[in-house]
Amino acid sequence: MQRKRSPGRVRLSEIFTSIEGEGVLAGTKTLFVRLAGCPLKCHWCDTPYAIPMDSGNDISIDEVKKMIAGELQPNTYKVNFTGGEPLAQADAVIELAKFAKSMGVKTYLESACFDAGKFARVLPYIDICKVEFKLRDARAVDDNNYPTLLKNELECLKIAVAAGKKPYIKVVVTNSSDQEELADLAGKVFSNISRKNIAGFIIQPSYGIDEPLLDRLFAFYDAVYPLYEQVRVVPQLHKLIGAR
Ligand code: SF4
Repeated sequence: MQRKRSPGRVRLSEIFTSIEGEGVLAGTKTLFVRLAGCPLKCHWCDTPYAIPMDSGNDISIDEVKKMIAGELQPNTYKVNFTGGEPLAQADAVIELAKFAKSMGVKTYLESACFDAGKFARVLPYIDICKVEFKLRDARAVDDNNYPTLLKNELECLKIAVAAGKKPYIKVVVTNSSDQEELADLAGKVFSNISRKNIAGFIIQPSYGIDEPLLDRLFAFYDAVYPLYEQVRVVPQLHKLIGAR
């Protein structure tokens, strides 16, 4: 259940600077603002401590702005609003993104795109975004809610493209993921948007749980390549260098 937050307050998990480990901007110095609480339940989630809606600390948005100002290091490429699920606290993300932009740093939204309405509200304050698609084997939602999740993800992609944000797409795969499902997903994606309007299609192997073997990674790559030659298999860099 999503809980209403008091105005001016946010449930915060953590703030820290690290090397971005995912996607097309892997390798950039990034200030992570991890909001607490996620309505999804991916079985391979690598931040399970940030899933409970009452995890983290209840803190004023003004206090978080001070933390961002205090944490922001020179040459930081972007502030990454992540989670948990940042859209679960969309109003707080808007306020904090406005503040980050006022400090001259780019804003980035790392969301599971479960709610296209909230995504559309936050997007004007976001410079760069990823649109994540969950395969069924992620178990992010119950089977009967999966079509709604997929619809929202596709809608978020269309909204981001229409806003000229040039999003990139990420899909986490495990050894148990279904390559035909991924091919079908790629078909849906590229029948809705033009290739030139996205910044990449990242297939991210799960880490530590049901990790895909090389032959499975080839199968996933081959599922997308006929539709998008720029598909890439990219593991999480921060795990490899021991950063969080
Ligand atoms: S959407 Fe993200 S934070 Fe939520 S359960 Fe899935 S991986 Fe974890």
